[in-house]
Amino acid sequence: MVYAPIAAVAAILVLLVLFLLDRRGRAVAMHVHDPGKKRIVVLGGGFAGVYTCAALEKLLRDDFEIVLINKENHFVFQPLLPEVISGQIGLVDVVSPIRRLLPKTELHVREVESVDLANRTITTSTGFHPHPHVLTFDHLVFALGTVTDFRGLRGLPEHAFPFKTLSDALTLRNHVIRALEEAAIEQHDDVLRKRLLTFVIAGGGFSGVEVCAELNDFVRGVAAQYRGIDPKEIRVVLIHSQERILPEMSDKLAAFAQRILSKRGVEIMLNARLIAATGDGALLGDGQLIGTKTIVSTVPSSPHPIVGASSLPKTKNGRIEVDGTLAVKGSENLWAVGDCAMIPAPGGGFAPPTAQHATREATTVAENIVARLRGGKVKTFAFKGLGKMGSLGHQSAVAEVLGVPISGFLAWFLWRTIYLMKVPGWGRRVKIAASWTLDLFLPAELVQLRLGSSVGVTQEHFEPGQDVFEEGDVGDRVYIILSGKADVLRGGAKLATLARGDYFGEMALLRMAARNATVRCMEPMDVLALPKREFNVLSANLPELKQSFETKSAKRGHAEAGEAHSAPQVHDVR
Ligand SMILES: Cc1cc2nc3c(=O)[nH]c(=O)nc-3n(C[C@H](O)[C@H](O)[C@H](O)COP(=O)(O)OP(=O)(O)OC[C@H]3O[C@@H](n4cnc5c(N)ncnc54)[C@H](O)[C@@H]3O)c2cc1C
Repeated sequence: MVYAPIAAVAAILVLLVLFLLDRRGRAVAMHVHDPGKKRIVVLGGGFAGVYTCAALEKLLRDDFEIVLINKENHFVFQPLLPEVISGQIGLVDVVSPIRRLLPKTELHVREVESVDLANRTITTSTGFHPHPHVLTFDHLVFALGTVTDFRGLRGLPEHAFPFKTLSDALTLRNHVIRALEEAAIEQHDDVLRKRLLTFVIAGGGFSGVEVCAELNDFVRGVAAQYRGIDPKEIRVVLIHSQERILPEMSDKLAAFAQRILSKRGVEIMLNARLIAATGDGALLGDGQLIGTKTIVSTVPSSPHPIVGASSLPKTKNGRIEVDGTLAVKGSENLWAVGDCAMIPAPGGGFAPPTAQHATREATTVAENIVARLRGGKVKTFAFKGLGKMGSLGHQSAVAEVLGVPISGFLAWFLWRTIYLMKVPGWGRRVKIAASWTLDLFLPAELVQLRLGSSVGVTQEHFEPGQDVFEEGDVGDRVYIILSGKADVLRGGAKLATLARGDYFGEMALLRMAARNATVRCMEPMDVLALPKREFNVLSANLPELKQSFETKSAKRGHAEAGEAHSAPQVHDVR
């Protein structure tokens, strides 16, 4: 008992010392630019960027300062991102605030807009005020990763879900829950029901397989909670362009993964390619159309546009060319790490684009920059990789660790343990471990978050034969054709053909009536869709716009009344 007050005083003293030490660390973060110090700027706060800054912080003396520019104020632990779909881990447990990870780094939460290599400056996007924000650098590290680029793939930008960021994972999760909610009450349109319950994933690499496994477990697991859904109606389809999934793994492990996924109900389509997407389906290279409201594509991964627009030396696939020390070819103060760079691997070939490699490249680049600043010797990147792992959900995984193939529960246990230990910060680790443990006993989380009150104007893609809307449908939006063609049909007869620049669908909104015609796509067509809510706001606040829609609408109606059969160019499409 005598020792209790002494222990309490000692504990308070320890806490006070820790608090003061912590404040010292923070004080460094709040410094302003000292012109006497060299400035190292890192672009991108993913695995490569954050770990570069962390390694630089360890080497920090008074001779340089570190600035990190990242779009978000958090670091995303991508290997665990697929688990956000099922809610197996808390929504924000897969991310860590960068400020807490890097107390000695000056963080700019901005988008990099341009890089001027000649003048050694970076321009970032504007914040609350539209003034330019320009930063100078002595050493610059490119760690921007790659982007999922659907451009050139018909309908994918409008209708496919990418899977790279926390917001991608959240958007997909919300969409999947919405599809289930809709399917549960859609009792009179069988085709629509099937589309709502069909989930297509394109890309059978690691991330595609993990997303597919997680999504499959989730939708099948929660189906029992929807009285209106028969689990047998659910289809999860994995489309892969090669002969087998997981090309990064041995034949045996890939075959194991295929077997496990098939057993759990996933349809695997090999040698198949997704070539177009619409709001109603996924079109494959062989002409097959899979009716679906959910298409996830983890491919293709393209070079970052900032890298593409720069004069940096690049390889054929658009990644930055670096030498073995991770310096951009022909440069002394430019460096590149992670997925945006093509890094020579020890023993030939190139380092694969993985988190495992990015974190090791980060340590090498930090040491080499400091060696350049202080006149030391630069090192060659020599990490060979420890192995590969992919989760198949439901306590199963495939792994190759130090050349040893492992599959099933043991691989899954290893996968979870290794990634848990790699998540930065003990706080996050404890939360994730707790979520995983609770998940063994509790049902999957089914809450759908409505993140925005309005989706605003969207772009949509239609394929020939597809109806934009049908006669009798509810009028919910106005369309403006950007490219392609559509026919206007009433009672099966063609009234008109619409092309680029034409708009349609406004009359049903103006007159609060049902659609009086069907609009059917005739050539691959891109449209801008303005929802009713936005249309009403615009009409209410811009009387001229409303007037112009009404005049055109009246003209169409009037002309059609007199010339319905003889003048197919005149149409009245609500
Ligand atoms: C679903 C999924 C699962 C994965 N699983 C594994 C796995 O199990 N094991 C493994 O080793 N690897 C895995 N990977 C791959 C691994 O995550 C990547 O190799 C790694 O993230 C690459 O790191 P990076 O820093 O180069 O790029 P990223 O992590 O993509 O980071 C790039 C950063 O740059 C920022 N940025 C981009 N443009 C701008 C801009 N204009 N302005 C400011 N900031 C910008 C981004 O916001 C991002 O923070 C997975 C990837 C995904 C998508």
